[in-house]
Amino acid sequence: MARHEKCVIIGSGPAGYTAAIYAARANMKPVLYTGKEPGGQLMITNDVENFPGYPQGIMGPEMMEDLKNQALRFDTEVNTGVMIEKVDFTGPVHKLWTDAGEEILADSVIISTGASARWLGLESETKYMNLGVSACAVCDGFFFRGKDVCIVGAGDSACEEATYLSKLCPVVHMFVRRDEMRASKIMQERVINNDKIKIHWNTEVDEVLGDTEGVTGVRIYNNKSGVKTEIDLSGVFVAIGHVPNTQIFKGWLDMDDTGYLITQADCTKTNVDGVFASGDAQDKDYRQAVTAAGTGCMAALDAERYLTAQGVI
Ligand code: NDP
Repeated sequence: MARHEKCVIIGSGPAGYTAAIYAARANMKPVLYTGKEPGGQLMITNDVENFPGYPQGIMGPEMMEDLKNQALRFDTEVNTGVMIEKVDFTGPVHKLWTDAGEEILADSVIISTGASARWLGLESETKYMNLGVSACAVCDGFFFRGKDVCIVGAGDSACEEATYLSKLCPVVHMFVRRDEMRASKIMQERVINNDKIKIHWNTEVDEVLGDTEGVTGVRIYNNKSGVKTEIDLSGVFVAIGHVPNTQIFKGWLDMDDTGYLITQADCTKTNVDGVFASGDAQDKDYRQAVTAAGTGCMAALDAERYLTAQGVI
């Protein structure tokens, strides 16, 4: 017989664990499924220096271990490495299936499946991940102060990150694959008028170059002329978009055309009663650990109110 839970949390980033801490303390007996990459995006971040409460900063994996232990302290059931791969929200009791084929019934579901950075797909990019290759200037830019870096992409994120990096780095090379940018006009102008940002149009990264210490440069090519050039630099920031991990909810939950879940204004309710969304799976604008934790808390409080109204708790 399928197990029947009051509250199932999908995902184990700051949103998921914060939801678990609040749900457990509200006696909702949350059951959390971490997915295949427990801890989410912070597991590939070195020092987290902008999460309030850690004056000396903390390593991303260590912070996630702390969050997990805090959730465990209040008796959250954490299913490590287990993925939810199918749902049925016909309701009122929601059905979920793990990758091992186990069926779970849930009175409420909190989705905290996060988003994954889109990468270029180069082998050298993977090799130097955390050794100079990053997808988050706000998280890692500080470590490159005084050094030349590059940013790949030409959307609002790339422009925002290039502007941010220009306050820390002498030169920020920006590689734009077309002869125009996707970013909004105001963001583009900020970049174009910034003397420290050097824009390379029609340019793509051919290879990330490095040694045993980390990144030492990039080989780029002009996709019009075919000319290849090498540039010495210390950091490669990839800002070519994020992909929300929401594929399994297609057809059940409202999402925008890029897959971000749509929640009601000022709360975490989705279009399905008893299903709540938090963290990067529903946030394409802020995408910070602290904002994810904030919406995780909101989702647990919204779920608690829902379960109370249903007479479940
Ligand atoms: P976008 O999808 O808007 O932009 C991605 C950029 O990366 C495009 O310039 C794209 O080029 C480029 N790109 C994609 N794949 C590659 C590749 N393989 N090699 C090189 N370049 C590539 O993503 P963003 O993360 O920038 O933005 C996502 C959403 O968040 C947008 O709606 C944006 O407006 C919003 N946002 C808003 C902000 C704000 O208002 N302050 C800040 C940040 C994001 P091409 O154009 O050629 O496809």
